[in-house]
Amino acid sequence: MSFALDLDFHAHTDRPRSGRTSLVGLMKPELRETLMGIGLDEREAKMRASQLWNWIYHNGVTDFDRMSNIQKGFRQKLADSFLLDRPEVVSEQVSMDGTRKWLFRFRDPKNPLLPPVEVETVYIPEEDRGTLCVSSQVGCTLTCSFCHTGTQKLVRNLTAGEILGQLLMARERLGDFPGGTRPDDGGLVPSGDTRAITNIVMMGMGEPLYNYDNVKQTLLIASDEAGISLSKRRITLSTSGVVPFIEPTGREIGVMLAISLHAVRDDLRDILVPINKKWPLKDLLEACRNYPGLSNAKRITFEYVMLRDINDSDADARELVRLLAGIPAKINLIPFNPWPGSNYECSTSSRIEQFADIVNRAGYASPVRTPRGRDIYAACGQLKSASQRLSKKEREALGVA
Ligand code: SAH
Ligand code: SF4
Repeated sequence: MSFALDLDFHAHTDRPRSGRTSLVGLMKPELRETLMGIGLDEREAKMRASQLWNWIYHNGVTDFDRMSNIQKGFRQKLADSFLLDRPEVVSEQVSMDGTRKWLFRFRDPKNPLLPPVEVETVYIPEEDRGTLCVSSQVGCTLTCSFCHTGTQKLVRNLTAGEILGQLLMARERLGDFPGGTRPDDGGLVPSGDTRAITNIVMMGMGEPLYNYDNVKQTLLIASDEAGISLSKRRITLSTSGVVPFIEPTGREIGVMLAISLHAVRDDLRDILVPINKKWPLKDLLEACRNYPGLSNAKRITFEYVMLRDINDSDADARELVRLLAGIPAKINLIPFNPWPGSNYECSTSSRIEQFADIVNRAGYASPVRTPRGRDIYAACGQLKSASQRLSKKEREALGVA
């Protein structure tokens, strides 16, 4: 059994008034510059930026008026010039296994005339951790044949403020900010931890490395010690294999990497993960071998979706082990999660067991990922929103490029 709440409140009722910029998602130097733009000198801008950072990311405040260490007059000036934007919560569903899925709605602050866009974000509580699965794009340019998101054309990239907005809103709903309250079914957040969200995976809608700058900005902010302060070891970015951005991800962001491998031969991977035609297995694995910071303590996760009679033979398992030899790796076998209209079936449990056995014997521990939140369509690859890309004509009619 699952239940859905259709929320009729808007978390962020403060409609963007023209001219107000959102401060959420700005890096510290940009934040300082933005403050200098309303007349602060360099020294004051630096001091105010630190205060704002703490209020926005540590305390989760959305109202300038709650910033008690800032004088009233200046709080008003901030409110007149800026926003602390959060998404609207369109719906919140809770699975029988405690997984939560939100549909979040964003307006484009630069083009308020454009229809809002919607993405899904998922929270997965476990014994010892709570993972937030975050979206980077509305839809996806790629068309992996087993993925529901892949059937939705790319509507647009999310901004850093919007990607962070998912995390901030989820933290608020889960009572993760100081003074917050856990939801009623709060027993389903990890026990013994002070935080409901201990980990982030960039595994929601979209290909994060096709929105590199915004994803980088988001993850650097999420791991900043003066704010949300999540360890980079607890942040995983999953890519279908955008090879030129793999090295920069390690060097500039420094988070854990997951690769959606799914096939061990180019002819099959070309069909399952079509980006393979551009960057085939050889190039992908080469980029993995050279991933900055790679070590036995910091391994790459290789994701492998189990598709019945497609990629699940013993020979595939042996080839998988052979391909990854020499790369510090974890293998994650993902039972295929069906969605309306999908053309594949999940491998049988005995097939998955046998495949996992071969992988286990090669030294990879507990490699099968338990599907979570299938009943609310929150499992891997089931996310999709109704947002559609506007035609050129429609955009022209709204006066946006
Ligand atoms: N675009 C990125 C991240 C999002 S998908 C990527 O492709 O890596 C997160 C993971 O779920 C990926 O490994 C993806 O291949 C996998 N996935 C997609 N559809 C799935 C489905 N229907 N069942 C199981 N896993 C799926
Ligand atoms: Fe896009 Fe990832 Fe889905 Fe492929 S698996 S279509 S890259 S979201």
